Amino acid sequence: MSTTKLPAAPEPLATEVFDSHCHLDIMVGNRQASSGDPVAQAAQAARASVEGILREARAVGVTRLVTIGYDLPSSRWNADTAELHTDVYAGVAIHPNEAHASTPEVLAEIEELARLPHVRAVGETGLDYYRDWASKDDQHASFRAHIEIAKRTGKALVIHDREAHDDVLRVLADQGAPEVVVFHSFSGDAEMAGKCVAAGYFMSFSGPVTYKNAAYLREAAAVAPTELMLVETDAPYLPPTPHRGKPNAPYLIPLTLRCLAEVKGMEAAELAAAVNANGETVFGPW
Ligand SMILES: [Zn+2]
Repeated sequence: MSTTKLPAAPEPLATEVFDSHCHLDIMVGNRQASSGDPVAQAAQAARASVEGILREARAVGVTRLVTIGYDLPSSRWNADTAELHTDVYAGVAIHPNEAHASTPEVLAEIEELARLPHVRAVGETGLDYYRDWASKDDQHASFRAHIEIAKRTGKALVIHDREAHDDVLRVLADQGAPEVVVFHSFSGDAEMAGKCVAAGYFMSFSGPVTYKNAAYLREAAAVAPTELMLVETDAPYLPPTPHRGKPNAPYLIPLTLRCLAEVKGMEAAELAAAVNANGETVFGPW
């Protein structure tokens, strides 16, 4: 199958950087990918271990990463993995697509995991109006509960916002946002970026910012001050150009970082340094 052929490694970065959002458990096949998820299937066919993924990333200057949970088993696995690897931090949460699973018992365990020292984020949570796997009511209730968990634990809130910009901003304002908020795989335009800047929310840019047909994302990146920018893969999903359709992995971060640097009129090393400083603000010291 041609999709199992992995993208070549990009030219290494001169200044190391980190991946603010990926899914190691999906990449290594901790849980088997469903037949409706060919990207995850291809990633799992190709990648053997967390060590291998970290090694490949390190070789191009991507020295650290945050692996993000989307349900309870995934959150537990990511928390365990972060404990085993000093260069890995974890996020824990119930994804908006799984929001019907956010019972009080499950949320209590998410909060317990969120208190662990190597768990540095509550996420991914938020709202997804693109898919209707969970009702809007369930999504809103789960999102609000995660906001409170982030506030009680002092961890960063990592938000999945798919076609729900206005409601995500409204719920954050209404519930009272935690100290640190990150819009993962930022998908808004320049106007949305302006609203995030006004609120002091971080914007984490992913592979789609490199896509030819996504000028609005580059316009958003132009508006975002470097003080509020992060870079991520969302691996195994959303690979940067020219690798669309292939499984993504943290070693492809340099392609996205270089595109962002070009938008900002900066050297990649200079942007990497800014992103690293933001990483400390968002996730704490490594
Ligand atoms: Zn994700």
